[in-house]
Amino acid sequence: MDRRSVLVGIGGAAAVLGISACSSSKKGSTPASATTTAAAPPASVKLGLVLLGTRAGPYVQGDRTGISTALVVDGHVYLVDCGQSSVWQYHRAGLKFAALKNIFITHLHADHVADYNNFFMLGGSTDTSTADGVSPPVHVYGPGPAGGLQPAFGGANPPPAQPGDPTPGLATLTQRCNEAFAYSDNVLMRDTGLQDTGAIAVVHEISLPDNGASYTNTAPATTPFPVMSDDRVRVTATLVPHGPVFPSFAFRFDTDHGAVTFSGDTTNSDNLIQLAHGSQVLVHEAINTEGGSLSAAAQSHMTQSHTAVQQVGAIAHQADVPTLVLSHIADFGPTGTVDPVQWTHWAQQGYSGKVIVGSDLQTIIME
Ligand SMILES: [Zn+2]
Ligand SMILES: [Zn+2]
Repeated sequence: MDRRSVLVGIGGAAAVLGISACSSSKKGSTPASATTTAAAPPASVKLGLVLLGTRAGPYVQGDRTGISTALVVDGHVYLVDCGQSSVWQYHRAGLKFAALKNIFITHLHADHVADYNNFFMLGGSTDTSTADGVSPPVHVYGPGPAGGLQPAFGGANPPPAQPGDPTPGLATLTQRCNEAFAYSDNVLMRDTGLQDTGAIAVVHEISLPDNGASYTNTAPATTPFPVMSDDRVRVTATLVPHGPVFPSFAFRFDTDHGAVTFSGDTTNSDNLIQLAHGSQVLVHEAINTEGGSLSAAAQSHMTQSHTAVQQVGAIAHQADVPTLVLSHIADFGPTGTVDPVQWTHWAQQGYSGKVIVGSDLQTIIME
């Protein structure tokens, strides 16, 4: 892929932005326009991104939906995270459920899995012989059990919820969703002949490297390790530091048309920089707390778990990526809203590549 050509979809059309890789000539350029118009990549697209939801955190407020991104490779969809409303955003984007065969979950915070089961229970709840719907198998890759819980902020140790199994991994989460919704599934199978939506997902809990990582040492220095590969993608991962969450993954997708890396939720991380190095696009989380009035506990969470938008440009520079896409974003400053011009300026500190402050349903075409 030509590292200098990236298109951004605005209202269903792909506009050439003439991105200049690592060139200072684009400093201060107008950020890509926000769009709420469905804009599925055209069938001719070889490598593209659809930002289904761009919101950080589980809070139901503002005008962004939960974090979820579709990577489209030669017409096949690789979905990264399933935040709130992402199954509807997937539909609104014009993506085909039949094209969804692989889902990747970075970690098990609620804002990343709120709609996970809905992709099967709702997206698969149709006669797939006559209409578009999710059909088996969909291979899901994500965290296994954390194995334990860190103390709370300030050293407190509140009694855990579900003390019999307080840290279930993705396989158990999936199994328990299927158990909880068995009645609906059974009725619909008998009443309308629909498929068993509880049998769509095939879960693969990602094996961790033998480097001492644990719930008390969440992201030691890690060499990127393989997750899966097929005819179109080779997926590798690393462990990223996301407060007490373990494991928390970043993913890199290498394709014949270029490489795209997703940071997942992370504070500044050398592991992430190593994973992303030389990618064409880095999709990175970012928050702003400047001018805000967070509590000590909230500020601690933000510092230990997330990356300041004022620092993300330096990360992109170290990773030598020509295009930085901000998603999973939230502004805890005085206005509480993301100003794309200000955020672009912040993200360009220490970085001369292209910055795109992501918005819901924005399409980014690499080739
Ligand atoms: Zn999150
Ligand atoms: Zn998180």
